Amino acid sequence: MPDSDVIVIGSGIGGLCAAALLARYGKRAIVCESHTIAGGAAHNFKRRGFQFDCGPSFYCGLTNAKSLNPVKKLLDILGESLEATPYDPLGHYHFPESTFAVYSQSELYCQEVAKFTKAGAKELQQFYHRLLPLYKAMKGIPSLALRADWQLLPVLLRRYLPSLLKIIPHLPLLRASVGDVMDATVGDWWVRRLIDLECFLLSGLKACGTIVPEVALMLGERSSAGVEYPIGGSQAIVNALVRGLKRWGGILLLGCHIEQILVESGKVVGVRSQTGQILKAPIVISNASIWDTYTKLLRPEDLPTSYRQAALATPAIDSFMHLHLGIRADGLENLTGHHVVIHDSNKDITTPGNTCMISIPSVWDATVAPQGHHVIHAYTLEPYAGWERNQQYEQKKRSKAETLYRAIEKIIPDLRQRVVLELIGTPLTHAFYLRRYQGSYGPAIAAKKGMFPGPHTPIKGLYRVGDSTMPGIGVPAVAASGILCANTLVEPSQTLELLENLGFSPKLKSTL
Ligand SMILES: Cc1cc2nc3c(=O)[nH]c(=O)nc-3n(C[C@H](O)[C@H](O)[C@H](O)COP(=O)(O)OP(=O)(O)OC[C@H]3O[C@@H](n4cnc5c(N)ncnc54)[C@H](O)[C@@H]3O)c2cc1C
Repeated sequence: MPDSDVIVIGSGIGGLCAAALLARYGKRAIVCESHTIAGGAAHNFKRRGFQFDCGPSFYCGLTNAKSLNPVKKLLDILGESLEATPYDPLGHYHFPESTFAVYSQSELYCQEVAKFTKAGAKELQQFYHRLLPLYKAMKGIPSLALRADWQLLPVLLRRYLPSLLKIIPHLPLLRASVGDVMDATVGDWWVRRLIDLECFLLSGLKACGTIVPEVALMLGERSSAGVEYPIGGSQAIVNALVRGLKRWGGILLLGCHIEQILVESGKVVGVRSQTGQILKAPIVISNASIWDTYTKLLRPEDLPTSYRQAALATPAIDSFMHLHLGIRADGLENLTGHHVVIHDSNKDITTPGNTCMISIPSVWDATVAPQGHHVIHAYTLEPYAGWERNQQYEQKKRSKAETLYRAIEKIIPDLRQRVVLELIGTPLTHAFYLRRYQGSYGPAIAAKKGMFPGPHTPIKGLYRVGDSTMPGIGVPAVAASGILCANTLVEPSQTLELLENLGFSPKLKSTL
């Protein structure tokens, strides 16, 4: 194994983005992935001709040059691209009393809401009018320019002053919760439930716990860059990043589980794999979760006790029950791809089993299922606690999957007669295959109660990326975390040169 400048533990989107960008900067980057398939939560697996997403399936702006999506920006810089199918409506929300089509365009969305509540639709418009200007202001500063240290400020002031000035009127919104904006604009309970649901789908928390920029970005992106599904599934995004990594000299080691980050005199010196192999590098970036990094990968004495305790006290969002199905597709020509089913209006939307997410990607990409079939992924929150591989496991698994079956039956009533392949995943499955602490969706850091930490750690040379770092959970967010971290490890002039190549800032060099 050649010497390297950087070792990245984990090939989730966060780890891959950091490694690929560092490789693009000329650093010798090695990614060590425990699994035999790259991608973490975004990886796909195949069974009998069906290709299953295990996590994300909702994407905006993967191919649109105007998009703010950091994945798209990074792929451009790596010289890679994706094919994707655009679609609209982006999904259907099935409430117990009604089904509602969700459109990407804010005007169409409000028109659809007006069919249920005219007053609510007007309020929703006001809600949009508060959030979309923030998205427009954010558009002036490319995510590729961001870094997580003081050197960001001179870069922003010198290169992006006009855009910064546009953000100033929105500064109070940056730290506010979506709940604050909702309280100021929306009184209608139907629309308030809708906003809570969209926040929950995005951050795992309702409006009062979700930060405004996250939702502004999501609404802005889906309105202006559009919703699309990558041909080849989520794995196509992962593969494009891996191609980009390799194109610039980076290395990906699959099946390489890292057991320990090696620290000497408070400084990182490398990592040790499960097979005992030692890889040396002055910089290690962990894409494992905050809990896994600080409990499994480091010895307690490597970190200051109070820092370690505070980090490990970060609350975790629950894990999931998953139902992966291969079904016969005859007679389902009008099927659409995304659905959210809320079983019981009297129960909170965050109650495990009550809100079920359904994705049928073969609607957009026929290559992910054998001819004449569809592939379905349905999931719902489920706490990790109480799950054990004991004698009751199989029975409990089957009974917990029932809520997912009932949800899909709202869309495909004769579902059970169509099933040709069934796989049920529990929080234990999720924790095992995604190598994640308690199979958690990510940290439950509520708006105004805390902030996602940046990439730095108290150990010299050790950095973190992914969904337990800033800006948070979701594919665009973790891609941004990888970019933030990679930029922090190089000179600002190197970043500016890349941006210039991308046409973001034509006059950069002269003013460096
Ligand atoms: C069910 C579900 C649906 C989702 N839907 C969407 C969606 O539609 N749109 C969206 O944008 N986001 C969605 N998300 C969120 C998004 O997928 C995640 O936030 C994101 O992919 C997490 O990326 P990451 O880089 O932080 O980490 P991960 O994907 O968790 O990757 C971490 C990697 O590190 C590896 N690793 C861990 N420990 C070690 C070790 N010791 N040695 C070597 N390797 C190690 C793991 O194997 C893994 O590959 C969804 C998530 C889930 C679970």
